[in-house]
Amino acid sequence: MQLSARITGLTGGGSDGWDVFNRAREMIAAGTPVTELTIGEHDIRTDPSILEEMNRAAAAGHTGYATVAGIPALRDAIAKRTEARTGVPTTRANVVVTPGGQAALFAAHTAACNPGDTALFIDPYYATYPGTIRGAGACPRAIAARPEHGFQPRAADINAAAKGARSLMINTPNNPTGVVYSQGTLTEIAEVARARDLWLISDEVYDTQVWRGRHISPRCLPGMAERTLVIGSMSKSHAMTGSRIGWIVGPEDAIGPLITLSTHTTYGVPGYIQDAALYALRQGRALEETVAAPFLRRRAIAERVLRGSNAVAVVPCDGAMYLMLDIRATGLSGEAFADALLDAEQIAVMPGESFGRAAAGHLRVAMTVADDAFEAALSRLVAFAERIRHAA
Ligand code: PMP
Repeated sequence: MQLSARITGLTGGGSDGWDVFNRAREMIAAGTPVTELTIGEHDIRTDPSILEEMNRAAAAGHTGYATVAGIPALRDAIAKRTEARTGVPTTRANVVVTPGGQAALFAAHTAACNPGDTALFIDPYYATYPGTIRGAGACPRAIAARPEHGFQPRAADINAAAKGARSLMINTPNNPTGVVYSQGTLTEIAEVARARDLWLISDEVYDTQVWRGRHISPRCLPGMAERTLVIGSMSKSHAMTGSRIGWIVGPEDAIGPLITLSTHTTYGVPGYIQDAALYALRQGRALEETVAAPFLRRRAIAERVLRGSNAVAVVPCDGAMYLMLDIRATGLSGEAFADALLDAEQIAVMPGESFGRAAAGHLRVAMTVADDAFEAALSRLVAFAERIRHAA
């Protein structure tokens, strides 16, 4: 039977960018020890107290269909957290709970775009973005954020691509670059969004991982609350990746139809997961900081290890759990370097090219292994890069 063009064309053809990752997994399965610095998943698990609450809620019977929009107490807690962090008045009517940020990204594009509309996004990008846009029936159009601009997108580039577009998706703190968008960048983005009448889909799932500067949610900028859909998630902030819980915060008149969309797609999130998420949010910033702390420590380790290298330059890591390394001085592409590094040193990193053209000649290193293993792997990566540079 013929499948739809929408589903068969989801990834746009070609490599999905996960070749090095898949090869590393094969090597591990065959018994070769590999240091994996690939995916964005913590090396700690969900806090036991959150699991206790999950268990308590399930045992107490919260295992039936839960309110599709999200249980009111959780929507209130998300609204309160959003208001506290951004200053924008927010109530439960601005919140829909989703099964993770990924489902929220899909729902937000479905809400913003008609079939065939152009949806803009910034390159380098989180690997699912173009497929998510295609899945929602829209056409992805990438806008480069260039290394020479510190990977901050420029208004002129967005404007040049904006003709006929319906939405623009941004992500700060950014995966894969670790860049946090400046006030200036966000002000420019907001100006373009207003001038071009674009929905702004703001992926803020790393909002608790800010190491330098300040995370600004563009929803707080003038005239933006009515056109911004903020994507949130407990995956990164609370090490709850497997629990699949996130949200969209947006204008009330968008949230109603988004809840209707949930009714016809996901039918909501399990009640015991929502109770656990509510408990986790009620622990406030202290728990979020505990979950983020290992990345802050490893960022300091990386600064020390990479200082003075002529072969590897680090893009200033202001947020998120990744380091972006510029290895263009070695003369290799990110793909060739990552491949060779896996063979020579049994260290797996993601080529920048997996995240779009703008990150060519770079590597994304996830800071997701124990400090000593992280330091050892990074030291070997630098030594490997120096050898290649000298041999070239
Ligand atoms: N956005 C970004 C930028 C991400 O890196 C991720 C996960 N790696 C997600 C969204 C989706 O996360 P989840 O569905 O687990 O909330």
